[in-house]
Amino acid sequence: MRVQVAIIGAGPSGLLLGQLLHLAGIDAVILENRSREYVLGRIRAGVLEQGAVDLLDRAGVGSRLHAEGLVHHGIELCFESVRHRIDLSELTGGKCVTVYGQTEVTKDLMDARAAAGAKTVYEADAVSVHDFDGDRPKVRYRADGGAHEIECDFIAGCDGFHGVCRKSVPAKAITTYERVYPFGWLGLLADTPPCGDELIYVNHERGFALCSMRSRSRSRYYLQCALDEQIAEWSDQRFWDELRRRLDPAAAEALVTGPSLEKSIAPLRSFVAEPMRFGRLLLAGDAAHIVPPTGAKGLNLAASDVHYLSTALIDHYATGGFAELDAYSAKCLRRIWQAERFSWWMTKLLHCFSDEGAFGRKIQVAELVHLINSRAASTAFAENYVGLPY
Ligand SMILES: Cc1cc2nc3c(=O)[nH]c(=O)nc-3n(C[C@H](O)[C@H](O)[C@H](O)COP(=O)(O)OP(=O)(O)OC[C@H]3O[C@@H](n4cnc5c(N)ncnc54)[C@H](O)[C@@H]3O)c2cc1C
Repeated sequence: MRVQVAIIGAGPSGLLLGQLLHLAGIDAVILENRSREYVLGRIRAGVLEQGAVDLLDRAGVGSRLHAEGLVHHGIELCFESVRHRIDLSELTGGKCVTVYGQTEVTKDLMDARAAAGAKTVYEADAVSVHDFDGDRPKVRYRADGGAHEIECDFIAGCDGFHGVCRKSVPAKAITTYERVYPFGWLGLLADTPPCGDELIYVNHERGFALCSMRSRSRSRYYLQCALDEQIAEWSDQRFWDELRRRLDPAAAEALVTGPSLEKSIAPLRSFVAEPMRFGRLLLAGDAAHIVPPTGAKGLNLAASDVHYLSTALIDHYATGGFAELDAYSAKCLRRIWQAERFSWWMTKLLHCFSDEGAFGRKIQVAELVHLINSRAASTAFAENYVGLPY
């Protein structure tokens, strides 16, 4: 089999890239090692920057997002048990974010791909990438009991943090930067109305909490927890009781509890791999970088990478030139490091760090007081939260 672009991974990066290439008449296949149902069942991000929404519109998959997504013009920061609103739109000349689950984005992209008749191989085993330092890269995999090989012009490594593409690059060709945080997020999804109209980020002496949502009837809550915490030890009741303790009185009063649909613990990590292009292998999304979810940037960075990558590939097939592909890595990394910085800073500002002690907490509160009272500080926050331009 021969295609122009072989995409590894059917997460948001791979599916969105596949759709944009399809619309440009570029032939691509997607290889995914999990089943379609497994990919759709993963509960992950839910806040889209305007740039990601615009890109999904360009990909022709924005209609359900606009019908069902919740447009948010602000967020709330809670510390010392008092909530303070940051008016994102007022501070950024009208920009906003849209709450629409990653599972919904994934479903819309999968449906569009199926409607276009474009090929995705789910449950592809033992995917491996070869010869990307030459002109004729190859991808090999096993499926339906047989071994397969695809010859292509380019390989797009959209296979997430644990994928095969980044690991296939010779160690001397890649530099990685990493910070692992000494805590995780315990998340709970429930079919209950959210306790507020906007997201509430909570700095509390018992640990960070986040009140988020996926719709007007589906809530997503998070608690900072120890890394060795066992999910089995967290009954729904224990989760709701702990969340209520960390909220301000009005939010605690408004909290509607119910049985969890999903509960999981995610570690927090900052990670960047440089560069993102190795000959004819190009990394995008979590394959190249990870942010702690505090700033809601993971999915949005995947979208901006795909914007740059699709633009570069479309330019290459239109002109035969490599200028955009040569610039791909630097363009992505400039924006990625901005989002890495913001996500790290928000994580530092809002979580309990046991090694920082009482002094660290006083500094956090001082910074939060400045953030809500200084228009300059609020504006810097809002600009980053709604997303820096592509
Ligand atoms: C547990 C968790 C919770 C998260 N929560 C949030 C959040 O609350 N807010 C936020 O903004 N972001 C969150 N994120 C980050 C966000 O979900 C990611 O940034 C986003 O999914 C990136 O998309 P991607 O397509 O690059 O990678 P992925 O979504 O990871 O997709 C990669 C795909 O490649 C496939 N794959 C892997 N290895 C192979 C292989 N060898 N061969 C073929 N296919 C392969 C995987 O199965 C997967 O489908 C979370 C991430 C995780 C892991």
